[in-house]
Amino acid sequence: MAEDTAPIVRIRELKKDSVNFVLENVDLAFANSVRRVMMADLPTVAIDLVEFVTNTSVLPDEYIAHRLGLIPLVSTNCDEAIRYTRDCTCMRGCSFCSVKLELHVSCSDDTTLEVTSNHLDVVPYVDDDAVDTGDEIAKRTANFGHPVGKSDPSVPPILICKIRKGQELHVKCTAKKGIAKEHAKWSPCSAVSFEYDPYNKLRHTSYWFERDSKTEWPVSDNSKEEETPRDDEPFDFNAKPNKFYFDVETDGSLGPQEVVMKGLAELQTKLANLLLGLKPTDEADGGGAGGGGGAWGDAPAAQDNAWGGNANQGGWGGGGANSPARWGAGGARSAASGGAGSSAWSGSGSSWGGSGASPANSNAAAATTGGWGAGNSSGWGGSPSQQTQGWNV
Ligand SMILES: [Zn+2]
Repeated sequence: MAEDTAPIVRIRELKKDSVNFVLENVDLAFANSVRRVMMADLPTVAIDLVEFVTNTSVLPDEYIAHRLGLIPLVSTNCDEAIRYTRDCTCMRGCSFCSVKLELHVSCSDDTTLEVTSNHLDVVPYVDDDAVDTGDEIAKRTANFGHPVGKSDPSVPPILICKIRKGQELHVKCTAKKGIAKEHAKWSPCSAVSFEYDPYNKLRHTSYWFERDSKTEWPVSDNSKEEETPRDDEPFDFNAKPNKFYFDVETDGSLGPQEVVMKGLAELQTKLANLLLGLKPTDEADGGGAGGGGGAWGDAPAAQDNAWGGNANQGGWGGGGANSPARWGAGGARSAASGGAGSSAWSGSGSSWGGSGASPANSNAAAATTGGWGAGNSSGWGGSPSQQTQGWNV
């Protein structure tokens, strides 16, 4: 893959809850994979069990439980800060795999009282039956599991129900880790979209129109990034989309930066597991025993990409090669073990790598966040060349 066709990411706008970026030199399937992974495969915490102590409001228990589940909770570093209950050794839930919240509101005035997400408090575990130890809790931020926007006056709280004089709502909730493939309440995103081919040169869309499709379907702002087609331009049936205009909007449980970075990491893990699954069993068993001798190294074509079993590449190879569970632990997702030259997705010219070679790199975005740059702890930075990475697997 020549350098000028390496993937390019250019951040156009980065806000607290959203990021807008352009992704170039990838194919449609890849862009859509990134979009879908960000929407459905990233873990967050959300209320999963609700115990009703008192509910004399007009709304039934199920209605309120459903609303509580949909309240976004701060889930920063969810990968490491909490376990899935299914992976935990406890019997009934513990502080390693869940967060307890409580809401107790009663109305004694003649006015209507609005019960909101600001009334939800994280409470300590009283009947913690953890038989295990772990460092998950130490990796949590101070507000982990709190409703998003609580204690921030600029964020309006989420309405749960309204109660009148004499009515009371008292619930005990257990928030758990999960992904949106299981239930949409675990999605960190409220919207992820991308547009490509704003002039519809590829004719992937058929416009419905009354008189003239051009006046009835004005082109989007993204068209400024592309060449206006001539009216007599012949249709190129071999053309493929190459430039994707992404808009990622989160619900606040994870920041937009974490969503994009974790999305790429998750996609990489999925591809690695797919490659492992396609490997003949005897080969998979044979590889990986030696220090860093990755199972992928056997295939000649794979030697030069991120999956390669180069002895000094930290990723993927480490343990029993047919144990997918081990991959996440010491693989290319960790800067420490990945080291220069083995972590993927980054590199010169890309905003994720932050080497500064890309003139279009957004100054404001890069400066305000810092996290996109080289050498950040999630390990995507600092790779010398896209060519040695996993893009062309
Ligand atoms: Zn547990």
